[in-house]
Order: sequence, then structure tokens, then C-alpha cells
Amino acid sequence: MAEQGPPAVVFKGVVKEYDSVRAVDGIDLTIRRGETVALLGPNGAGKSTTIGMLLGLFPPDHGTIEIFGKSPELAMRAGHLGAMLQEGKMIPRVSVREIVDFVRQTYRKPLPLKEVLQLAELTKIADHRVDKLSGGQAQRVRFALALAGDPDIVVLDEPTAALDVESRRELWAAMQRYAARGNTVLFSTHYLEEADNSADRVVVIASGRVVADGTTSQIKSMVEGRSVSFVPRSGRRDGYELLPGVSSVEFHGGRVHLRTTDSDLTVHALARADAFTDLEVSGVGLEDAFVALTHQARHRETVPEGRTN
Ligand code: ADP
Ligand code: MG
Repeated sequence: MAEQGPPAVVFKGVVKEYDSVRAVDGIDLTIRRGETVALLGPNGAGKSTTIGMLLGLFPPDHGTIEIFGKSPELAMRAGHLGAMLQEGKMIPRVSVREIVDFVRQTYRKPLPLKEVLQLAELTKIADHRVDKLSGGQAQRVRFALALAGDPDIVVLDEPTAALDVESRRELWAAMQRYAARGNTVLFSTHYLEEADNSADRVVVIASGRVVADGTTSQIKSMVEGRSVSFVPRSGRRDGYELLPGVSSVEFHGGRVHLRTTDSDLTVHALARADAFTDLEVSGVGLEDAFVALTHQARHRETVPEGRTN
């Protein structure tokens, strides 16, 4: 059943500009039914803008978005989408049960109250006042409100920002319970660990573009690699991509910069060839990986096949 019909989400050439900023710069993305996808990117990458368009809050300037083959507005009205956005204050003096039940009743085919409370792990605190909750509990209430209408796709924009480790774990467990029912989940984050623990697939966005798209382990290996840089002894500029472990090659500042999945092997091969002076080896953090991936994405677009600089 889950595989029939159009995909959950299709973005084609989606662009959104604010004055001089291209917040989203040509996103193509297909999300299949039942996938849990992490949208991973640094602050300002365009995650919230992408999510806002997906939810039909504002239209793209160019390109199209379809949710189960429908426009976001129609999909929203048909109850396909549930969302948990970055902002949103709790109203005072009502209980968890009251607010969840109230929101449920605004939908045509809501989930049973008991089930929403269970999914979001709120059963034990159902009688607590929503304005007296901890940060983690309040986020689970927001999550429950996103689920109340029994949407096919739930969209969460940085749901765990500002939560402690335990609260995060509880929220991810709640999200996984919802995904396990065959639903599609899209969440944004700037933590790779979250993507790693919860997503089938990680779409990395930077500067409004998709710069990598793969399983969590593929994305992790890009990030966990090491960077090897040196001044080439011979001024040589080709063939480095053939060295063991090397996944990318760049030239700047008179140096060769290699990304490698095994810096020991790479350095040994370089040493045998007596190829370098001034060698530096360093770990690649997530921020570096964003920069490198963004750079590679631009490079692929502007440099013809076969040139290396
Ligand atoms: P993220 O959620 O990944 O942090 P955003 O989608 O919020 O990124 O922002 C992407 C870019 O668009 C940023 O450069 C941001 O400053 C800009 N931007 C976002 N919203 C607006 C807005 N309403 N007006 C002007 N610029 C905006
Ligand atoms: Mg954001």
C-alpha cells in the first residue's frame, strides 16, 4: 500500500528569494512514502524556507512542489500534512489532554486521544498544565499537535533545538513510533548525530542547494573522513584522485587538498611517491564538510568534465 501512487514529496527546481538572498536555490528532491528523511544543514542553509514552502505557507518563486501529487495547499487541506515549526508558544492554564483534544477535534479524521498521548509519550503528564511543562515535555506536546489529525507526512523544523539529551532521546523515540506506522517523516537539524540516529536518509543542504543525499552512513563517511593537504613537490596537479582512500581533490593557495577515508593509506602512498612538502592531516568536522560539499557542488556545476582546477 505505502508504495502506491505518487511519491510523498516532489520538489522540482524550487527557488525562493528574499530581496537579495537566494534562500533556496534550485532544489530537486523526491521523498518516497514511508521514508524518514533528515534535512541537514548549517544555520541559514534554507531549511526553514524549504519547509515553509512544503507546507504551503508561501509559494516558491520558481519550480513546483507536489505532495502526493497535489499542491501543498490542497495537501494541507486534505489533511496529509502535520507540522511542528520552530516557533509557537503554549497557551496558559489548559492541560495537556485539553489542548491535544481541542486540536484533534479541528480535524476530520483525528487519531484517538489515547493514541496521540501514547505516541507522544504524554499519557503520564496528560493532566499537567501546558505552561508548567519542561522544554522537552512542551516539545512533545507540539509533536502531539502535529500528529493529532493523523497526517501521512509529519514535518518537524529543528524539533530538538535547545533540548537536553534526555528530552531529545524521548522526542526521537516518539517520532520513530510515528514513522513505524508507515508514515513519512521529514525533519531538519544541524546535528549529524540526530540524522544518524533517526533517519533512513540524509539530505544535506547548504546555501539553498542539495549538496549531498545519501544514507546516514554515506553522509557520515563524508564527514568523518580526514583532510590531507600539502605543497606538491613537482607542481603536479593530476592523478591524486587515484591514491588509496581519496574521495576528493582540490587545489587552492598553492596546496593540494585531499579528502580521504583512510589518511594512513593516502599518506603512505604520497610518501612512496615522494610527492609532497609541508604535509598537514586533520579531521573533518561537520562545518568543514558543509563547506567542502557546497564547494564541490558549485565546482561540479561550473567546471567542465576532466578539468581539475
Ligand atoms: P535555516 O532554516 O536553514 O537556518 P532559512 O531558511 O531560515 O535557513 O534561511 C535561509 C536564508 O534566507 C538565510 O540567509 C536567511 O537569512 C534568509 N531568510 C530567511 N527568511 C527570510 C525573510 N523572511 N526575509 C529575508 N531573508 C530571509
Ligand atoms: Mg531554520
